[in-house]
Amino acid sequence: MTSIATLGSHCSLQVLKGAKDEGFKTLLVCEKKREKLYKRFPFIDELIVVDNFKEVLDSKCQSILEQNNAVLIPHGTLIAQMSSDEIESIKTPIFGNKWILRWESDREMKEKLMREANLPMPKPVTHPSQIEKLSIVKRQGAAGGKGYFMAANEDDYNTKRNQLISEGIISKDETLYIQEYAAGVLAYLTFFYSPLKDELEFYGVDQRHESDIEGLGRIPADQQMKSNKVPSFNVIGNSPLVLRESLLDEVYTMGENFVEAAKRIVAPGMNGPFCIEGVYDENAKFTSFEFSARIVAGSNIYMDGSPYYSLLFNETMSMGKRIAREIKIADNEKQLDKITT
Ligand code: AMP
Repeated sequence: MTSIATLGSHCSLQVLKGAKDEGFKTLLVCEKKREKLYKRFPFIDELIVVDNFKEVLDSKCQSILEQNNAVLIPHGTLIAQMSSDEIESIKTPIFGNKWILRWESDREMKEKLMREANLPMPKPVTHPSQIEKLSIVKRQGAAGGKGYFMAANEDDYNTKRNQLISEGIISKDETLYIQEYAAGVLAYLTFFYSPLKDELEFYGVDQRHESDIEGLGRIPADQQMKSNKVPSFNVIGNSPLVLRESLLDEVYTMGENFVEAAKRIVAPGMNGPFCIEGVYDENAKFTSFEFSARIVAGSNIYMDGSPYYSLLFNETMSMGKRIAREIKIADNEKQLDKITT
C-alpha cells in the first residue's frame, strides 16, 4: 500500500488531510518541538520525530519511508531547509519533479525558465550601479521575503544593505538579486498540471500578507519619513482573491506556457501543483516576479475547496486532496513513475 508523507510545516496539514480523505496512510516528518502541535490532528497516522528536517536524508528516516511505500510531497520548507543537491539525493519518490526545484531555488535558472515560458517579468538589474528605478533586492532561495529591501539608487542600496548586515539579517558575502519593483495588485496564481490526463487546472489565487511592508502602509507618511527601519517582506499569512473573469483566459495561457517550457527544458516537466506569482498593474497587465514549482502555502486558504475548483469538481477539493487523487489514480494504473521523480 502506498502512503503519503511530508515535512511538518508549511501546508502539511492540508496535504495529509487530503491524503487521508483519499484513503492513504499518512506520515509526518516532525521536529520534536512541534510534536505536540501535530498530535492534535487525528488524520496523521504516524509521526517520524526528528531534531532537524535534514534527518530526512538519513538512512533511518528513509527506511521508514521506504517500508511504508511513501510518496514524499515537497513544499516550501523542504526547499528552504535543504540544498538542491540534498533534495535530489532523497531516495523516497518525490511527487512532481524534484529536478525543477533547483530551477526554483537558483535565481539565474529561475529567470531562464520564466523567460522560456514567455512570462512578462520585471527588468533584472545586473549591478547596484545600474539601479535607475525603484528596485527590490532579494536573497537566494525560498527566504520568504525576510531580508529583502527596496532601493531607489546605488547609495540607497549600499545604506540598506549595510544596515541589514549590521543587524545580522543578511550576510556580507551573500549574493543578492536585484530587479525593478513592479507595483500593482498582488496575485499568486496556483495551477495543477496532471501528466496522467495531460491537462492543466487553475486552482485559485491568493495574496500574501507580508510584514512589515504592510505595516508601513498603515503609518502616515510623516511618521514613515522619520523611521530608518528597512521594511522586510516576511510572509505572515495569505488571503483569497478572485479575478475579473476577463483575466482568466490569459491566466490559463500563462500556465500552459509554463508547463510547455518546463517540458522542454527540465524533464519530466512541471508535474503537479505550481504557482506563478506577480502583480496586475493599472492596465490589468500581469508582471511575474516569481514561480514556485510545487504546492504553495497560499493553497491552505482553500482547504475546503477553492472557487475555481468548485467549477471543475462536484466535490470539495483542496490542493492536498488533488495531489492525493493523482497519486491514487497513478497507483491504481501502476503509473506512479509518471508522477514522481
Ligand atoms: P519572492 O521571494 O520573489 O516571492 O518575493 C517576496 C515578496 O516580495 C513578494 O511576495 C512580493 O510582495 C515582493 N516582490 C518580489 N519581487 C517583486 C517585484 N519585482 N515587484 C514588487 N514586489 C515584489
